[in-house]
Amino acid sequence: MSISIELADRIKNLPPYLFARIDSMKAEAKNKGVDLIDMSIGDPDMPTPQHIVEAMKTAVERPEHHKYPSYDGMPSYREAVSRWYDRRFNVSLDPGTEVLSLIGSKEGIGHIPLAFVNPGDVVLCPSPGYPVYSIAALFAGGEPYFMPLTEDKGFLPDFSSIPEEVLRRARIMFLNYPNNPTSATAGSEFFHEAVEIADRYDIIVCHDAAYSEIYYDDKQPLSFLETDGAKDVGIEFHSLSKTYNMTGWRIGFAVGNREVIAGLGKIKTNLDSGVFQAIQEASIVALETDDNLLSSIRATYQARRDALFEGLVDMGLRVTRPDATFYLWARVPEGFTSEDFVVHLLDKAGVLGTPGNGFGEPGAGYIRFALTVSVERIKEAVERMKKAL
Ligand SMILES: *Cc1c(COP(=O)(O)O)cnc(C)c1O
Repeated sequence: MSISIELADRIKNLPPYLFARIDSMKAEAKNKGVDLIDMSIGDPDMPTPQHIVEAMKTAVERPEHHKYPSYDGMPSYREAVSRWYDRRFNVSLDPGTEVLSLIGSKEGIGHIPLAFVNPGDVVLCPSPGYPVYSIAALFAGGEPYFMPLTEDKGFLPDFSSIPEEVLRRARIMFLNYPNNPTSATAGSEFFHEAVEIADRYDIIVCHDAAYSEIYYDDKQPLSFLETDGAKDVGIEFHSLSKTYNMTGWRIGFAVGNREVIAGLGKIKTNLDSGVFQAIQEASIVALETDDNLLSSIRATYQARRDALFEGLVDMGLRVTRPDATFYLWARVPEGFTSEDFVVHLLDKAGVLGTPGNGFGEPGAGYIRFALTVSVERIKEAVERMKKAL
């Protein structure tokens, strides 16, 4: 017997995976025993701080945590989120209605269009951008509309260039600052504009703040919810992944507008059963981490940023020195496409970056380097790249 197994249109029609060629070249290089310096991965190389690991060990021993968790998150976790928010952003949140636990922020981002997007509705997505925004829109039957992020506009979308007809059909607008992949940050003026446009066209703003705690020179990024009226139009996604080196733990949260939070919660109630309570317990401890420890993690990234920035400038590449995120977004040299340049560096220097066009067409002509390797390796990478150019 055999049945015909066919993929559903929603995954058959996914845009092509642009990193496939790079992935196979990387595997090949590794097979050949190349001493690869991989700066293509947005996953911290440092371990989860020990006090969080210890809290997990204790929590995992407790049988009451072995049961199904509550869907919205333990009250104590939501209260810890609310306290953290107040301390960090001076924004108050009702832990009962304005905070929702997530199995990583990617989970919440991926699910939110299911709560608010009908077939044919538009979802505004930054481009270049984190691919989940537009894929989630497609999965919900929505139509992604890409807002180009260009250097001349500080990598902020230009709302005035979006056609009126698109704005009228838009239900959700995804924003992401500090930004992956461009590393740009947004000021209060921009967030004001976003609130205004959302209010005028009834668009839900979903701000992805995964990198709010990875910043340099004490330039603390803003929360979208610090903006007047923001809580009337949207929510913010946060992640413990990048802040506390906890990418493998899968925990994050969404905060803000209670109706939006409730809508996302409704989808989740029907799809998942919340975050393992032991992880929530450990995350409460994480959210109370002494700022000195976070400062030292930031200092580590800052030393790497400085080493790579100086190296790239020496090489003659055009690159802005980021105030936040662990990425550098550099213009590739004249005569190369993003992919050509990535392949050239891999071949000639054993250094791997990510081609900018993989994040969307406006990223063409750029390369992204992740600061997830040591300063020594970055210096080595710079030396090798200089020789390769
Ligand atoms: C890493 C990342 C996330 C996802 O983080 P998780 O909480 O681990 O799911 C979300 N958005 C952006 C832009 C990211 O780079």
